[in-house]
Amino acid sequence: MPVYQFAITHKPKNNFYQVLGYSLKQLCRLDEAATIYQKAIHIKPDNFRNYEALLEIYMLQNKWSEASVYLRKFLQINTDYQNFGIKRGYAKEKVIALTYDDGPTIYTKQILDILESYQVKATFFVVGKNIEKYPELVKLTLARGHELANHSYNHINMSVASPELIKSEIEKTDRFLRQLGVTSTIRFRPPYGQQSPELLKLLLQMQKQLIMWDVSSRDYLQKHTQESMVNRVINHVRNGSIILLHDRFSKTVKATEIIIKSLKARGYSFKTIDEILT
Ligand SMILES: [Zn+2]
Repeated sequence: MPVYQFAITHKPKNNFYQVLGYSLKQLCRLDEAATIYQKAIHIKPDNFRNYEALLEIYMLQNKWSEASVYLRKFLQINTDYQNFGIKRGYAKEKVIALTYDDGPTIYTKQILDILESYQVKATFFVVGKNIEKYPELVKLTLARGHELANHSYNHINMSVASPELIKSEIEKTDRFLRQLGVTSTIRFRPPYGQQSPELLKLLLQMQKQLIMWDVSSRDYLQKHTQESMVNRVINHVRNGSIILLHDRFSKTVKATEIIIKSLKARGYSFKTIDEILT
């Protein structure tokens, strides 16, 4: 990194700033990273990657007005973009977050029992209509100390939904979670990972973090077996990784146990999204 600091001092260039900003983010030095990306914007105001990076940093820090300012600037140069949000926890330690989307389902209880037997906490991005079907499972998830988060009400593709529909999908699921006893921050992950600038605008207004992932198990693809899922996850994790799984497949139940055992053996510990981001 000092090489890049030197390079910037002698010949300020956008890509030097980007490498330095990226490195600082990996080291969890978010304030310094933000300053560097702002300098990059000064040099190259039309490079949308700098705005994307700043949006993630400000969202990680819950700095909503700063994030809104950079989203506005971003939209002046790029109106069609789908890759916002928090992709990793950028932790210094060997910690990772297991996240399960689309539940609760008939497999959720089995996953909860495996997590319990290894004393692992995870985060569940639940779908509103499934909460209505299995409220007891949501209560059990909460009682066992896991984090509950919002994955819309009807599991719709939000990149093509109106702002009004997006808002009602999110608010409805939040209401169900509150009714079932969730008192902490409720984060959001869009179905299929599909987003739009409208979705991000709304989330910033609601002061809600958009949580993506940096490691997908790809359990939703039929060709991926329990074994290939496990290998994908184990070979891609880094400090602070957010791992995408779905508690609606029997192979994911079995894979969960192997992932936990393998990563524990490699010195990783497991946190909720809330723990990994704070
Ligand atoms: Zn989903």
